[in-house]
Amino acid sequence: MIGAVFLDVGETLVNESLMWASLGARAGLEPHVVWAGLGAAVARGEEHWRTWELLGVDRPEPASAGLEDAELYADAQPCLHRLRADGYFIGLAGNVGRGLGPVVEHFGLDVDWAASSSELGVEKPSPAFFERLLEVAGRPAAEVAYVGDRIDNDVAPARAAGMLAVHVRRGPWGYLQRGAGIQIDSLDELPAVLGGA
Ligand SMILES: [Mg+2]
Repeated sequence: MIGAVFLDVGETLVNESLMWASLGARAGLEPHVVWAGLGAAVARGEEHWRTWELLGVDRPEPASAGLEDAELYADAQPCLHRLRADGYFIGLAGNVGRGLGPVVEHFGLDVDWAASSSELGVEKPSPAFFERLLEVAGRPAAEVAYVGDRIDNDVAPARAAGMLAVHVRRGPWGYLQRGAGIQIDSLDELPAVLGGA
């Protein structure tokens, strides 16, 4: 029985479309050119920051370190509320270059714990990242779920750690990467998946 659930941030809870479009505009690129570059990075199995190199432009700096270009997916808050009502320990853990505290505060997310890779000192897909989550949960891996949009960084390493891995099919990686794990199209489906695990 699952008792703790950890969620990825980018493209799991947060829609990054505006952020990518805004960064592209700063580099003088139309959005569809940015999408093509992202697709090339995904297809090559490379990280998102390679997008700019593949397009031959300097990596643009965000207008600020703020969250003005980030927006929650519409199903994020209802899902967190439902998970809270169902009694799960809820954590956020993603590969982010800064702390997650401002994200939690900005969106008013009701979670028990949140830490980025920079705060943990280890990045996905490292097994150590998922071991840290199991320590935080204080439960055996079979009672812990990890939810993310990427197979390479989220689903595969979570499964390797013995966790229940749930693949949210959205965002560039969510559509282009296929693989093992439970697939959902929306976080609306998550409570039932966890309850039935
Ligand atoms: Mg993600």
